[in-house]
Amino acid sequence: MENPKAVNQPVPSQALEGNLFSDYTSVYRSKTLEELREAIGDCQRCKLSSGRTHLVFGVGNPKAKVMFVGEGPGRDEDLKGEPFVGRAGQLLTDIITKGMGMKRADVYIANVIKCRPPENRNPESDEIESCEPFLVRQIELIKPKVVVALGKFAVQLLLKSKVPIMQLRGEWHNYHGIKLMPTLHPAYLLRNPGDKKLVWQDIQKVLQELASPSV
Ligand code: URA
Repeated sequence: MENPKAVNQPVPSQALEGNLFSDYTSVYRSKTLEELREAIGDCQRCKLSSGRTHLVFGVGNPKAKVMFVGEGPGRDEDLKGEPFVGRAGQLLTDIITKGMGMKRADVYIANVIKCRPPENRNPESDEIESCEPFLVRQIELIKPKVVVALGKFAVQLLLKSKVPIMQLRGEWHNYHGIKLMPTLHPAYLLRNPGDKKLVWQDIQKVLQELASPSV
């Protein structure tokens, strides 16, 4: 038999949301990057939350024509709450400023996962899955002309492909109507500086595309 007292009790809104909506409803409904960040909140959706100092959401121009997507925060990024601020970040900044003649603030920079994995290990598939809706919504809201996917994790996630990055890089791909250029990750370039020339070739294609009139 129903407990009439329980029936009449007001339902706490959090419990209602938990029952009726998925953990991502407000993420999908967000209309601005600020709303998206709010919807992510103090995220506990995967096991990386327990080890983070900061959730590293993303940084830059919300109307950027070009968006860079990396793998995930390292130690420096976790401490600062900003993507690409360590050694690999300095190299990415050089690519943007010296190579492309742009400012960091002109572009948008985000990662596949928003929290640092322990000891900077590779992100695991459940962590990538938990974080994917955030990146997808960031791209939808920014609507860049070009996405530059940095390294294997960004490329594999966005293109849903397991083809090695060396075979994908340097050619245009289509991400839901947005041009996507896969290229090598700056951390890889720190270990393999001889391959910087390949990234420069890829970035030149990006610059050509940015300079071409939009249809
Ligand atoms: N490497 C990444 O992929 N992202 C960062 O933010 C820093 C290093």
